[in-house]
Amino acid sequence: MNKVNFDRINFTPAATLRAPTELAARGLVPVEHLAGLEKVAARYAVAVTPDMAALIDPDDPNDPIARQFIPSADELITVPGESADPIGDHAHSPVSGIVHRYPDRVLFKLVHVCAVYCRFCFRREMVGPGKANALSEGAYDNALAYIRAHDEIWEVILTGGDPLMLSPRRLAEIMADLAAIDQVRIIRIHTRVPVAEPARISAEMIAALKVEGATTWVALHANHPRELTAKARAACAGMVDAGIPLVSQSVLLRGVNDDAATLEALMRAFVECRIKPYYLHHGDLAPGTAHLRTTLAQGQQLMRSLRGRVSGLCQPDYVLDIPGGHGKSPVGPDYLSQANSPSSEGELHAETRYRVVDYCGEVHFYPPEP
Ligand code: SF4
Repeated sequence: MNKVNFDRINFTPAATLRAPTELAARGLVPVEHLAGLEKVAARYAVAVTPDMAALIDPDDPNDPIARQFIPSADELITVPGESADPIGDHAHSPVSGIVHRYPDRVLFKLVHVCAVYCRFCFRREMVGPGKANALSEGAYDNALAYIRAHDEIWEVILTGGDPLMLSPRRLAEIMADLAAIDQVRIIRIHTRVPVAEPARISAEMIAALKVEGATTWVALHANHPRELTAKARAACAGMVDAGIPLVSQSVLLRGVNDDAATLEALMRAFVECRIKPYYLHHGDLAPGTAHLRTTLAQGQQLMRSLRGRVSGLCQPDYVLDIPGGHGKSPVGPDYLSQANSPSSEGELHAETRYRVVDYCGEVHFYPPEP
């Protein structure tokens, strides 16, 4: 029997900054902006952990860490196309807490709280105190029953909110419940905690992540190389040393990581930490986030630059979550195009020639001229 008690979520310590007045007292926002920022905070949750606050240079108006966590009046501007559910979670939610978008995997949204609240969050209308309710005991049981009843579900992705806001004890119970389902072989945890609040990655938390009967993967969300502090690196090393593979997720953000040097440093830092770069997400159409989005063309140009600067080990997939719930598609630049037409439609044979672009941007033909 499942013993759910989501009251056991450990909230971040009191030193986390949650109100614009607290941000102003720390010199992170000008006092004259407080009235506007109170409106933002009334709509979207605010939390800046001590670890993240310490990374912000209050004298830099363009600080890339501040841009991610410090609210801005620009968030009150919603542009056409932005939506409260930009990637279509609701359209694929058969029972509360589950999103079943692809056949072999589900998202399992356990909690709606995070250590920090990212200003570009694609679930910003659903996360934070006072947003969606935490999953009730009955809803948790229903979600497990749904997974149990679907033999095709090979992977369960714990997301939210941030699943590492749960206590190690509760997390271990959930991991055991999932691993007891025969077809569930992989449990993937999406988290920002190892960078936002690395002290939570205790020996108990690492032990809770490992479970008999399923393989755990952790996907770390970080967007700027400065987030990978010594404490964050130690937290990640603790997980990798325990045999838990890590991959990265980053969001391409204007004024944070939308230049080749920063992206290069971020990807190199991941690999140095034994974290395989996995996804670079194009910014989702979440309300009030236009000031943080790049264009797709800029993203493709950055990916071209990255290809020329770092090894394949450091290359993430640049992906777009198609609005409406149609899933992710790779949207990186094309390096291959057909140089002539095959003799009949759809038939690829020895006469087909391709134009292929190398890492310096030069064009070649394949096969080469005899
Ligand atoms: S940690 Fe993830 S879910 Fe939480 S606010 Fe940031 S992007 Fe959203």
